[in-house]
Amino acid sequence: MKALTCAATRRRIHAYCDEELPVSDQIAVGSHLEWCTACAALHADFQAVGSVLRTSMPGRLPLSTEAEVGLRAGVVSRMKTERTLSFASQAREMFEDMRLVYAGAGGAAAAVVCIVIMLGMMRFAGRLPVSLVASVETSAVFAPAPPMEPHIQLPRPIGQAFSTADITGDSVIMMVAVVTREGTVVNLSLLDPGGGRSSRQLTQTKAVEDLLGAVSRARFEPARVDGLPVEMNMVWVVEHTTVRATHAVKKRAARIGPAAPVNV
Ligand SMILES: [Zn+2]
Repeated sequence: MKALTCAATRRRIHAYCDEELPVSDQIAVGSHLEWCTACAALHADFQAVGSVLRTSMPGRLPLSTEAEVGLRAGVVSRMKTERTLSFASQAREMFEDMRLVYAGAGGAAAAVVCIVIMLGMMRFAGRLPVSLVASVETSAVFAPAPPMEPHIQLPRPIGQAFSTADITGDSVIMMVAVVTREGTVVNLSLLDPGGGRSSRQLTQTKAVEDLLGAVSRARFEPARVDGLPVEMNMVWVVEHTTVRATHAVKKRAARIGPAAPVNV
């Protein structure tokens, strides 16, 4: 039989009162209480408290053995159920099989990569056409005309080159010529606005011949590239439009003066 110290006896004294100790501990505590007056006094106090509690609640009967077993089983099953349904236990079960975790993590990573690639394609789609055809169409429709190089200077007329011609009626005259390095006009010819050279309706009129004569005699400041004069092909478009008033406006305008043709 083992001998207990006072501290060991006092740790077991509650269980000794309720007769919950193993048989060997029960005997050891009992033998210690036989000779130790201090521990025996403590034990007497606990027993007195217990008897007072029992006498203060006379209507309360202690549980029978069957009822105690049923209560204990109910408490244990409820604890198990709550543990099963709790989020922490579900998470723990989820991570018990790491193969499933790896598969899920791989799928999530692949989805994230796909989303990033899609966003990148959407971001660059406006700037980079995906095919050569799309590239050509985009440049044909939306690309602005390249700006004139800053070191190129177009020929500029000296004085009034075209306005001396007297043209009546609506007409569009297109001329092509070469402005030489000396500023003179050579190879002057008419262009048909509908396509091709030498417009049929306009070549015979005197006004157009006067215009051609005026242009051929005009002097230009030659085109310059990097400050050096160069020859340059030029195309001029002279559009002549007569604005006529409506019938109601004509009456009013008659008091002011005749309508005049407008050169554009
Ligand atoms: Zn003692």
